[in-house]
Formats: sequence, structure tokens, C-alpha cells
Amino acid sequence: KMRGTFKTQAAIFDAEMEKRENRDQRLLNDLNRALEKGELEVYYQPKYDIQAEHPRLSSAEALVRWRHPELGLLSPADFVPLFEQSGQITELDNYVWKEAARQIATWRSRHGVVMPVSVNLSRVDVFDPNLMEILDGIIARHELHAGDIKLEVTESAYTENAEQLIQVIEELRAKGYEIEMDDFGSGYSSLNMLSSMPIDVLKMDIAFIRNIERNEKDFRLVELIVDIARSLKVPVIAEGVETAGQLNLLRNAGCNLVQGYYFSAPLPAAEFERKILSEVEKA
Ligand code: C2E
Ligand code: MG
Ligand code: MG
Ligand code: MG
Repeated sequence: KMRGTFKTQAAIFDAEMEKRENRDQRLLNDLNRALEKGELEVYYQPKYDIQAEHPRLSSAEALVRWRHPELGLLSPADFVPLFEQSGQITELDNYVWKEAARQIATWRSRHGVVMPVSVNLSRVDVFDPNLMEILDGIIARHELHAGDIKLEVTESAYTENAEQLIQVIEELRAKGYEIEMDDFGSGYSSLNMLSSMPIDVLKMDIAFIRNIERNEKDFRLVELIVDIARSLKVPVIAEGVETAGQLNLLRNAGCNLVQGYYFSAPLPAAEFERKILSEVEKA
């Protein structure tokens, strides 16, 4: 009887695996069509400066979604890792950056303000020899400054090929691009490496924020990260802020910027414009 149960579970597991593999294969095949047909959508989530008297909108993060005709709205977790493995992430990300730049220019023409947008770079993108040329082409086309497009590079990227990465990042910064170290604290970068790492913003991982209202130790860690940022002389941003309690703790700890559902979920461009940008104009 037991045996039978195991067998059934194993069969279910195999079927699930197969389904997942088929789906992954399918997504890999579908990317070109998605790029051609505009199935990728860029959402925008606002970031706020919380050390001002009232939280002040400072910039936005571009986060990709895929409106797949058969599979529905997919989140990055469903496909970003796949394309990182296959190497196609660079194509996808180049599309997102172009889209973000186009959006900044559109908002500029309609509202007279430049809303800086952070885009995500996969570790694959960072080592793309054409990276600089692509970014320069994108900003030139829309008459933007390098500082209008900020580059979020996940901490885990810093562990591979650190020397080469430092070189790339230094070249980018020399041209005026700003680098945010994303998901800080989730990877394995050591503290001594951090001191030689040229970055402009430290973005602490969402995992640190989740329990700060309940767990004293987590709050201490957040304070520690704020201290690290301070000693590196860079601002620190917290993501995943969902409650007023978290916001207050972060403000008291000296965290500079926050992003999270408390202020707004990532929004389609039109909604971001209506709800977030128009608020700034009224203020
Ligand atoms: P990330 O860059 O660390 O982005 C933050 C994630 O936290 C986003 O998930 C965002 O929607 C989510 N988030 C924001 N506020 C809250 C909150 O208050 N609570 C909770 N629970 N979550 C919140 P998302 O959009 O699903 O993206 C996940 C990851 O996928 C991103 O993490 C980033 O690493 C990657 N990603 C997203 N867009 C792109 C892209 O265009 N290119 C690349 N290479 N990676 C991307
Ligand atoms: Mg990010
Ligand atoms: Mg992050
Ligand atoms: Mg993250």
C-alpha cells in the first residue's frame, strides 16, 4: 500500500517536472515573438525619500512582466532566471531599458519633469561587451542624461569575476551612470570587497524588512546595513516596505529611501502617470 502511494506521488512529481520543463522550453521559444509583438510590459514602482519632512518621490524602478497570450501575466520569477541561463536575458533587458528610456522621455514631454528610472541588470548583461554602446545609444536617442537611467546590479553578480566587474562599473560611473547594489545582504559579497566596490546606492534585500516590527534582531541588522552605507558614504534604500510601522522604524534607523506596497505596488506606465506623477504636479 505504502509503495503504491509513493509510486503515485513520484508519478505526480514527474508529471509536474515535465510540465514545468515543457513550459520553460516554450517560454524560451516564445521570447522572440514576445519582443516583436510587445508582450513584455514594463511596470514602474515609485521610490520615496523618507528623510525629507514628507516622503518625496525620488525615482522609479522598472520591473518587467510578460503578458503571455496563453499563460497569462507572468512575473519575472517565471522567466528571468530561464533567460539568464540561456543568455537571452540581454535581449530582454535591452528591450526593457529602451522602453524605460522612451517612457522617461514621454513623461518629460507631457509633464516637464524627468523621472529617473532604475533598471535591473542581470550579471549576464554586465559582462556584455556592447553594454556601454547600448546604454549610450538609448540615452542619446531620447536626449537623456546618463544619470536618468540608474542601474541596479544584484549583489550576487559581485561575487563572480569581481575585478572585471569593478572595471565595467568604473567605466559606467565615469560616464555618469549610477549603480545601485541590489538585494544587498542576500549574496555572499564580503565586507572587505565592499570597500573596493564602486557603487552609488546600497539597496538592502527585502528579507531584512519583512520582520523588523516583530524581530529586534532583524531591526539591528537593518541598522547595521544603514551604518555600512554611511561608512561607504552612499544612500541606502529599503525595498518591500508594506506598513507604516516598517516605514517609521526605517526612518528612525536613518534609511534614506524606501520602495514598497505601503506607497505603491509596481504599476503599468499609464497608471503610474495618473496616480504617482500627477500627485507630484499637484504638490
Ligand atoms: P528586485 O529588483 O529586487 O525587485 C523588487 C521586487 O520586490 C519586485 O518583484 C517588486 O514587485 C517586489 N516588491 C516591491 N514592493 C514590495 C512589497 O512591499 N512587498 C513585497 N512582498 N514585494 C515587493 P518582481 O517585480 O516580481 O521582480 C522580482 C525580481 O525579478 C526583481 O527583484 C529583479 O531581480 C528581477 N527583475 C524584474 N524585472 C527585471 C528586468 O527587467 N530585468 C532583469 N534582469 N531582472 C528583472
Ligand atoms: Mg531591482
Ligand atoms: Mg532588490
Ligand atoms: Mg530582490
